[in-house]
Amino acid sequence: MITKFTDRIYYMPNDDKTDRPLLGLICGDKDSLVVDAGNSPAHANEFLMEVSKLDIPPLKYLVLTHWHWDHVFGIETMNLITVCNNKTKEKLDIMQKLSWDDLMLDERVGKGEEIEFCSKMIKLEMPDRDGFKTGNADIIFKENLEIDLGAIHCTIDNIGGCHSEDSTVIFIPEEKTLFLGDCICEDIYSGEWSYSRDKLLPMINKIKKYDASYYLTSHHHPESKEEFFDYLNDLIRIGNFVGNECSKNEVIERYTQFYGKAPNEDEICNIYSFIHGNLKDRA
Ligand SMILES: [Zn+2]
Repeated sequence: MITKFTDRIYYMPNDDKTDRPLLGLICGDKDSLVVDAGNSPAHANEFLMEVSKLDIPPLKYLVLTHWHWDHVFGIETMNLITVCNNKTKEKLDIMQKLSWDDLMLDERVGKGEEIEFCSKMIKLEMPDRDGFKTGNADIIFKENLEIDLGAIHCTIDNIGGCHSEDSTVIFIPEEKTLFLGDCICEDIYSGEWSYSRDKLLPMINKIKKYDASYYLTSHHHPESKEEFFDYLNDLIRIGNFVGNECSKNEVIERYTQFYGKAPNEDEICNIYSFIHGNLKDRA
């Protein structure tokens, strides 16, 4: 199902069952642009089927928020002018040489080159991967790029952060909307999921500078500025509370004393992520 979000923006919601991310659609007077390719040909096809029912300018561009499988496996099916930054492109080049059958996936998980969670989701989303090859990009930029869709502009910036150094955000000033991909998520590809304060906090400062009212992340429902900033401020609060501490027990104890109550489940998750980041820095 595709949802009209603002006058010129639509989105197809994420689906946690097979880790399908939210897909975006931005419509100018002249062209339309898709945000992320989806996690399989089936996912991309579902999106294209929904889009075909809309009265909008033709789809022209596909912008990738980062290289992770769930955002790029639908590139070939989308069959649009694919746009990404040079770091995403490097990863796409590597991925094109890989096989995605169970045997090769399991082998890469065993060697620590792929993570168990992604392997499980890939198998669920695409039970048949015989001969499947990932797509590549057509337009490569460094740092940033602007695309004019006709009266609607997309400002595309490589924002970095913990999750992936190629993380890219797409800002549509006329609609005051920011697509964030997974940039506010943890690093999931190097052992325990982790936040590095040194990478996260400067990135959050950059995010806050966009003159946006609406924020769309890939694995969550869209949020207003107030909701999203509350979330960001809470992450900053927890990151600063953890500081350089590496002991989970000590932080939880200090937290419980300081706030007069134990941290909730989400807070514990974030506390642990910052501690994992500290442990990686120390190693
Ligand atoms: Zn990701």
